[in-house]
Amino acid sequence: MSDNCVFCKIIAGEIPARKVHEDSDLIAFNDIHPAAPVHFMIVPKEHIASLEDAHARHEMLLGRILLLAPMLAREQGLNDGFRTIINTGKGGGQEVMHLHVHVIGGGGLHAM
Ligand code: AMP
Repeated sequence: MSDNCVFCKIIAGEIPARKVHEDSDLIAFNDIHPAAPVHFMIVPKEHIASLEDAHARHEMLLGRILLLAPMLAREQGLNDGFRTIINTGKGGGQEVMHLHVHVIGGGGLHAM
């Protein structure tokens, strides 16, 4: 756990969140400012600041996040596809410095 990390506080149960999944390594919860009708984030419980801070030992964890995304997307009713976004660092628009994968869908998404 990293001090002053909002996602670590959610993982520790110190800040409430609308969880859509939790297991021993990962948590997923709805974004507080949704960009689309469905918008949740998959977050490793280990505090990894960003994708730039991930190492070879995180290979399995990163794979699990990507495999969980379509499973949870379907559970949330995204039967027609979804968008995944990983913002990395200041230049990538990352605001919360705890690695997370956004899963977004349900309408209003344009081709990138
Ligand atoms: P990023 O720009 O990729 O770092 O995205 C961080 C996301 O976390 C933003 O979309 C915020 O709306 C979201 N967020 C920040 N604080 C909370 C919170 N307490 N609960 C849920 N989502 C949050």
